[in-house]
Order: sequence, then C-alpha cells, then structure tokens
Amino acid sequence: MRKVSVAVPVPFLDLLTYNVPDGLTLPPIGGRVRVPVGSRVLTGCVVEYPSEPGADELKDIIDVVDNDPLLLPDVVALCRWVADYYLAGVGDAMAAAMPPGARRQATSFKTKRVAAVTALGSDPLSRSGSRGLTPKQNEALEVLSGSATGLPLSELRDRGVSSDVIGRLAARGLVLRAEADERDPFERAVMTNVHPSIRALTTEQAQAFQQLMTLADAGEFRVALLHGVTGSGKTEIYLRLAERARRAGRQTLLMVPEIALTPSVAALFRATFGERVAIQHSGLSDGERHDQWHRVRRGDVDVVVGTRSAVFAPLTRLGVIVVDEEHDTSYKQEEAPRYHGRDVAIVRGQGAKALVVLGSATPSMESYQHALSGKYARATLERRVLDRPLAAVRLVNMREEYAEQGPEAVISRELAAAIDDRLARREQVLVLLNRRGYATAVFCRQCGDAFECPNCTISLTVHTARHGWNARCHYCNYTMTVPVQCRKCAAPYLEHAGFGTEKVEAHLRQKFPEARIGRVDRDSIRRKGALASLLSRFAAGELDVLVGTQMIAKGHDFPRVTLVGVISADVGLGVADFRAGERTFQLLTQVAGRAGRGERTGEAVVQTLYPEHYSIQLACRQDYASFFEREIGYRRGMRYPPTVALVNVIVRGRSFDEAMSTATQLTQRLKQFSVTSSFVILGPAPAPLVRLRGESRVQFFLKGPRRADMRNALKAMLAETPEVRRKITVDVDPLNVL
Ligand code: ADP
Ligand code: ZN
Repeated sequence: MRKVSVAVPVPFLDLLTYNVPDGLTLPPIGGRVRVPVGSRVLTGCVVEYPSEPGADELKDIIDVVDNDPLLLPDVVALCRWVADYYLAGVGDAMAAAMPPGARRQATSFKTKRVAAVTALGSDPLSRSGSRGLTPKQNEALEVLSGSATGLPLSELRDRGVSSDVIGRLAARGLVLRAEADERDPFERAVMTNVHPSIRALTTEQAQAFQQLMTLADAGEFRVALLHGVTGSGKTEIYLRLAERARRAGRQTLLMVPEIALTPSVAALFRATFGERVAIQHSGLSDGERHDQWHRVRRGDVDVVVGTRSAVFAPLTRLGVIVVDEEHDTSYKQEEAPRYHGRDVAIVRGQGAKALVVLGSATPSMESYQHALSGKYARATLERRVLDRPLAAVRLVNMREEYAEQGPEAVISRELAAAIDDRLARREQVLVLLNRRGYATAVFCRQCGDAFECPNCTISLTVHTARHGWNARCHYCNYTMTVPVQCRKCAAPYLEHAGFGTEKVEAHLRQKFPEARIGRVDRDSIRRKGALASLLSRFAAGELDVLVGTQMIAKGHDFPRVTLVGVISADVGLGVADFRAGERTFQLLTQVAGRAGRGERTGEAVVQTLYPEHYSIQLACRQDYASFFEREIGYRRGMRYPPTVALVNVIVRGRSFDEAMSTATQLTQRLKQFSVTSSFVILGPAPAPLVRLRGESRVQFFLKGPRRADMRNALKAMLAETPEVRRKITVDVDPLNVL
C-alpha cells in the first residue's frame, strides 16, 4: 500500500494519512495533493511517507497537483520544526512557506501572459465615454486599475475575470496583453544613496569581514553576532559576504525587519546584484510575491532580500543568512505559527550548513548572551565609518519643563530652539514619539466618564477626522465620532488627555509654519505607496521635518538629518513588560543613530520624565555593554528570559469565569505532566487586556530552564483535551506579554 502523510490548511490539525490509489503516481514530498477532509476537498502538502502500517480504512487522495515538489525537503523539515517548537499546526507552518495562491491552483513554471490597463482604459472620462461596457468589463478594469504593472491572466481568472472579457477590452484598446516580464518590486523602492561601486573598507570593517568570511568559507553551520554601532557600515559587510558566497556558488538570504522601512538596503543589493536578487515581503501584491517566489524556486537568483517569511524561501544552495537588526520585534509573528524569524533562520542555517550573521547596534539580550558565552562568534564595529562621531545626546527633564511651561507642553524650549536652528541651516530633523493618534483618551470633566472600547479593556485613542474627532480602538478598530456632549451627563466638557504623533505634528505646524512637515505612522501610511512616497520626499529634501513612531527609528540612512528629537523617551517604560527597559534602550539608541550620518555631526534632544533611568542614561551614552550588564542582572534576579525560557498561554472565553475555569483546569493538568518539575506555572490570572474583541482572557505562564519539558507537558495536555485548542493561544518565547 502506498501512503502519504499530508499537512492540510486547517488550524491545529496534525498530519493526516491517506492512501494513494493505483491510478495516481506517488506524489513527491513537498508536492501538493487534493484530499478529502470531512466533507470538504482541500489542497494539502505531502510531508512524509509513513512507515507504520496504520489503519487500513484510509481515505484516498483525490489528485496529485505537483509531480515535482513545490516545497524543498529542507523547507518541509523546517516547517515541521516550527510546528513542533512553537506548538502550531503543521498545516499552518507549511502555509507560511507556500507562495501565495498555492492552495488554490497548480502553478505554472512557464512564462505567463499578463494584462494591464492602458492610458485610455484608466482614464475615467474616456471610460464613461465608451458606451456599452458590460458590468463584467467594468469590473475587470476596476481590478486592473489597482495594479500599475498589470496582472497575470491566471490571477485575473482567480478573481473572476475571464480571458474572454480581457480579450474584448483589448479589442477596444482599453487593455493591453503581453508576455509577462516579471514585475519588479524594486521599481517602487526608494533609492537613497545607492552606490553600486564597491568602496574600500575601513580597517574595522575589513577585520570584521575577514573574520566572517573565514567562517563562511568553512562551509559549516555557525552563528556570528555582528555588533556594530549605528552607522558603522554593516550593510557593506553583508554585501561583500553575499558577493563572496556567490563566487563560491552559494546563495545569500538577507533578512530585514521591514523592507519599506529600510529600502536602501534592498536598493543597494539590487544595484550590486541586478537581476540576481529577489525580494520577498508581505507588502507586495500576491502576483508580485508569486513571481519572486518562483524565480527563487527556479534557482534564478543568488540573493533573497526579505522579511521574516523569507526564512522559508526555496533556496537550495544557501551559504550565508544575514539577519539585519536582529533585535527587531517585527521578526516575531504575532499570529499562528508564532515563530521568530531570527530563531528559525538559525535552524535553517544549521540544516544548510550555512553561516548565520546576526547584525545589530543593540543586540537582543538573547543573542548577546550567546556571544559572550562563546556559543556565537562575535565581530565588533566600535566606530562609525570615516570617523564620524556618534550623535551627542542632550536630556531634557520634562518635569522641569512642565513647571515652567505648564502641563500642556509637548515640545520643550530646548528642542524647539534646536529645530529652529536646523531649519535656518536647511538641515533635516526627525521627531520621534512612539504613540500614534492625537490624544490617548477622552473623558468628561464633569462626571469623569471615559471613552473605553466596548469590546476591549482599553481606552479609545482620539484621531483627527475630517470634521472633528474620531475615537478608535487600536486593538479591534472600533470607531466612534467624539460627541460634543458627554454621553452620560450631557455636560459639554469633554477633554482630551495624553498625546500622540498627530498632536506633535499639529504643534510643530503651529510653531514652525514655514517648515515642510511629514508624518509617518500606521495611520498616515494606510494608502499603498504612501510610506515610500513620504520617505523618498524626505530623502529628496522636499520635507524638512519627519514626525513619526518607531518606524522612523529603523535603519534609515538620511545624510542630511542632523537633529533627532525624542518627544517622550519613557512611553514604553510604564508598561508591565519585563522587556520595557530593553525596548527603550534599543529605540533611543537606534533613533539617536539616525542623526549625523552624513558629513555634518548630529545631535539628539531627548525629552523624558525619568532622566535618571538607566535605560535612558545608557542609551544617551550609547553604552551597550553597561546596559547589558545591568539588564542581565535584573533578568537573573527576577528569573526572566534569557536566563530562563518562557511560554505564555492565553485562554479565551465568553465570560471571565468561563475562561478562568478552563485555565484552572489546564494548569492543574499541566502540573501532573510536569514530572521532572523543571518548570513552574505562574497563574492563571487575568490577562493585561482582560477583554479583547469581545472575549474574556485569562493567562498563565510556564517558566523553566528547559523548553522541551514545557513543550512536552503542553503537548500531553493538548492530546488529552484537543477541543481546548480553539480556545487557547500558546506563545513560545513570547515577545509581547501584553
Ligand atoms: P549601519 O547599518 O551599520 O548603521 P550603514 O551600513 O547604513 O551602517 O552605513 C552607514 C553609512 O556609511 C552609509 O551611508 C554607507 O554608505 C556608508 N559607508 C559604509 N561603509 C563605508 C566605507 N567603507 N567608506 C565610506 N562610506 C561607507
Ligand atoms: Zn476594541
């Protein structure tokens, strides 16, 4: 009997075993098959050929989709590791590795035809003028107008647009059909400081490169931390490692936190490797992602630049994996499978016998600890290139400022003066506040009624709306118009409290009416292309000041920025997260690192209520080593990661009591499975967000030195009560414990 184990895209479901009937060829591992699941037929992926005889009344697979594997064997193995380590369903993990649309259709590896709307077709006037367009034709134009570079006919078909309709539109000159040139997502990338020519490395760079190159050449699995201050030229080293790997016939995977925020890295690789680079991230359209994925699968590229999901890219000759800004929290996926891109990259590197380089100016506590212990190699860049000094940081004590200026102060006099100075010199300014919106709460001054989200235990954030104010929940997106009067007592005294980026922008506009100001936060970049456009306008000098959230703190390289203002350095310090100090240190160090990257020296002005806090003090001095010492002492004392491992379990229920009683049962079961007693269970207790999207939430933690013990206990518990899977979220190595 020929049998296959198949991963299907059903949350939490384990592998299913099927019989391969005589009429069908045996599907390859990593190939897709159509299988019956309950009353449905789904596309799954073959994971293994089971060895045990198993039950004989197996169902038959219906069809074999791929005769060649879609997923490579090592990627299949990686997905299984992810499913096991993060306690996720195999199907969920495999879905992360699939190109978009792979669940629906067989993929053609041949060139395909695309259709794009013509100038005539995109002109609404000529369109309305061309009488007699059917609803279907209009719909097709609508779909196509969303994509400047056109869409493949296969994708159009999936979206309900037949090639017939396209044919008729083409006949009227409204649509153009062509053989697909693959769409190039780099075309939209902002090209800042692209220099394809390779420059001489500084002595420090040369040393670090030499060290990493030797490791890469050995062709063995190895992890190295590249700890280099901001502006020390880490990208140049990545570039050379990739070049060296290419010459040895091996490929490079460069992972970045968010491509849109670090377009210069992608652009630089493009300028150097041309066609031999593929780019992968979630901001691309399905069609673009599909193209890029298949270019990699065909072996047409030497380098993949991508975000966390690129860790599953179908590269067969991996030699080097670089995880840039390895400390960045966007490497962690906050939905199933809850994997950490950096940690999966290390496992992938192990399988591929590759060198894994973790780069950062502010390494995570986890990585630095491994570097100190010798588990990871370490290369260091202590100076900026061309001996540019690090930005000088001035702290402004906002308590004194409030005493002088009143409690409404947002921008201190010192920061205002510094901005004024830069504007006069035609230099650029970044202003950071890691909180979006206009105000953080609305309440009635008479009766105290505050606007909370009806679905979540969180106060609504005030945003500027076209007419007046909106109040919006940042978790579930519940939105209401802020009324003129209090809902409870009808008093006309509604007041805003707290402030976010929108208010900072408003204050800046008021103070500096001549300045050209842009804002970057999740609200201002909703429209596709808005972020790229803001960043490129800033890069081109069309904006003087850019206000924003942590998005502006990431790896940008704007040489004309000579001042960085931090409105409220302690935004993150008040939260009940043991990583708050680490986050604050990273954010401040990174944002200060954006200043003075060009010829002129930079300066940062940091406003804070806690100027004496060690995270703030040490970030100002850019003293990572002291910060690590201090922080690791605290983690050790409190028994927090990285000195122990942590698993977070959130139990959801319709009511608090229901969630609590489920959680209590689960923790009791877990205690029985904790045979070795190598871990403790903390809780259950109300989750910090006790209501979220209408559900009640209770949480507990498992904490101990050995993850495997915790994992095994959780697995045993889940095997016993599989129905509970739908009510709980298990987060192994959680980064966000709120
Ligand atoms: P990091 O990623 O370490 O913060 P980057 O790689 O962005 O630093 O480099 C900072 C700046 O220095 C960039 O503008 C880069 O082009 C420039 N640079 C890097 N290496 C050299 C070098 N060897 N000589 C001159 N300029 C360099
Ligand atoms: Zn809500």
